[in-house]
Amino acid sequence: MTDTDCIFCKIVAGDIPSTKVLETDRVLAFRDLHPKAPTHVLVIPKEHYRDTAALAAADPELAGAVLHAAAEVAAAEGVAEDGWRLLANTGANGGQEVFHVHFHVFGGKPLGRMLS
Ligand code: 5GP
Repeated sequence: MTDTDCIFCKIVAGDIPSTKVLETDRVLAFRDLHPKAPTHVLVIPKEHYRDTAALAAADPELAGAVLHAAAEVAAAEGVAEDGWRLLANTGANGGQEVFHVHFHVFGGKPLGRMLS
């Protein structure tokens, strides 16, 4: 499943360049264009789902594969021991700008607490 207007589908297809850090048959991880931390990687399913809810409902196994890949990215980036953050902005109030589900992997510095 692909959306021809989706920039992340274009990254999966190789039509928009990206710096890949991990790739499997169903998952791709690449560096964010505007990094907010020393490690800032986006982990996506190659198939197009608009958000976390759509992915989880349609293909829980793929959702698990994306989470597994995120942990692999953290380990490969060397941030697993000191800790890292996984974030999925979902919908307008969640601050989602690209409507191809993606998980941000942040690490490499103290990230502070989002909730207090
Ligand atoms: P959102 O707010 O949807 O959770 O985050 C979208 C993220 O995608 C942003 O952090 C933004 O910097 C990143 N992004 C948007 N366009 C591109 C692109 O063409 N390439 C890469 N590598 N990242 C992008």
